[in-house]
Amino acid sequence: MKRAMRIAVISDIHSNLSALQRTFEVIDRLAVDRVYCLGDIVGYGPSPNECIALIRDRCMAVVKGNHDSGAIDEVPLDHFNVYGRNAIRWTKTHLTKKNAEYLRDLPLLHVEDDITLAHASPLHPEEWRYIFTWPEAHRCFAAFSTRICFIGHTHIPVIVGEDGSVNRFRDGRRYLINVGSVGQARDGNPRISFGLLDTAADTYEVMRVDYNIEATASAILAARLPDYLAQRLFLGI
Ligand code: ZN
Repeated sequence: MKRAMRIAVISDIHSNLSALQRTFEVIDRLAVDRVYCLGDIVGYGPSPNECIALIRDRCMAVVKGNHDSGAIDEVPLDHFNVYGRNAIRWTKTHLTKKNAEYLRDLPLLHVEDDITLAHASPLHPEEWRYIFTWPEAHRCFAAFSTRICFIGHTHIPVIVGEDGSVNRFRDGRRYLINVGSVGQARDGNPRISFGLLDTAADTYEVMRVDYNIEATASAILAARLPDYLAQRLFLGI
């Protein structure tokens, strides 16, 4: 039996504490029953331990992202671009042992009620594929049996229906939903993105929220992470 719930789904925090704190402020005002996290808690940003602490505390289910895997040596450094690599090296030296163990224990997939959670794709999640096209999205539907599969990884929010519809959420269909990124938007809109599912009303909403980008950008520079990782936050790229 389906439970009537309001569920917030967040992804790709990337050690951006200011964005994550703001996300939970908004979630707290939305009368949400559950928060799920699709991984990439760390990487790129300056606050990996603080972000992991908040996620552990607030999320009922969490799956592992490729940057989480990279930070504990499960994914080789050459998997990442030069900025990602630099940040993974930085993260490895700053991550506490307890938090490294937490990342290690995260699953690649999680199924709860009528929802599947995956970071990149429900199909071979360990290959960290990017879902950008309809053929790629279409293949994913055979890899999950629930009504909805939530993903992140591209940092670009989109709702794909099993019938090929885009950005429409209507009763009765199955969906692959990318919730976008909390801490590093890449769709040209620098605001936080996360998803809000209401199972009673059967609605899904993409939430876009401003946050203090300056705070994270200054912390990136103070941590001596690459300048570009601070600049891109203002542009949402
Ligand atoms: Zn990511």
